[in-house]
Amino acid sequence: MVKRIRKKISIAVDGPAGSGKSTVARRIAAELGLLYIDTGAMYRAITLKALRAGISLYDEAALGRLARETGLEFKEMPDGSQHLFMDGEDVNEEIRSMPVNDGVSLVAAVKEVRTALVEKQQELGARGGVVMDGRDIGTVVLPQAEWKFFLTASPQERARRRWRELKAKGLNVSLKEIKANIARRDEIDSNRKVNPLRPAADAIHLDTTKMSIEEVVDWIKEKVGEGKTNVL
Ligand code: C5P
Repeated sequence: MVKRIRKKISIAVDGPAGSGKSTVARRIAAELGLLYIDTGAMYRAITLKALRAGISLYDEAALGRLARETGLEFKEMPDGSQHLFMDGEDVNEEIRSMPVNDGVSLVAAVKEVRTALVEKQQELGARGGVVMDGRDIGTVVLPQAEWKFFLTASPQERARRRWRELKAKGLNVSLKEIKANIARRDEIDSNRKVNPLRPAADAIHLDTTKMSIEEVVDWIKEKVGEGKTNVL
């Protein structure tokens, strides 16, 4: 069992949508006393801002400008959860809406957007002590992370998880719609030219299809606990 972290380690958690990475990363961070950073939320916020401003999601120059100029800050809420503030506004709910789901992979494929957001993410992770989840954390954002995990699950199971999540929030979307959205995002995220969704060469892979959140969290904690140089 992991009892006490001596050095502030960094943990990268990558994988496709619905692989369980956000829930797991959030829990690991809370249990190990590390800061959780949801990089997907940052790409979502830029997408939301572009949609609100009527900017075309194919206008790369305008999207790059938006990513450079937008203030993004994670703040801890009284209940311990973390919300993303965009230019001072809490957008945590709105960035999970279907229009953002549908557009985010296009925005995240833009080189200037990635350059701006990766820089912000690296600043947040510079002092260590973070659990960061995304698509390119182990490969690009935190290649020096002590631990890199790559989580996957079957497309069917990933769609079901996302659907349950959105249902619980009261959003009325069909499983079919979610499946199509996830398949499209997988396709764009894996095939884009800049920082595609890829496991780092030294990432530890885990198929979570048949695992509960608790099982995945315990499995990762056990792995991290095995690293005697990192953890006491
Ligand atoms: O993690 P989440 O599903 O919220 O991410 C939303 C989208 O943001 C992904 O589908 C991907 O297009 C993009 N993303 C990315 N790189 C990251 C995190 C997210 O390209 N590090």
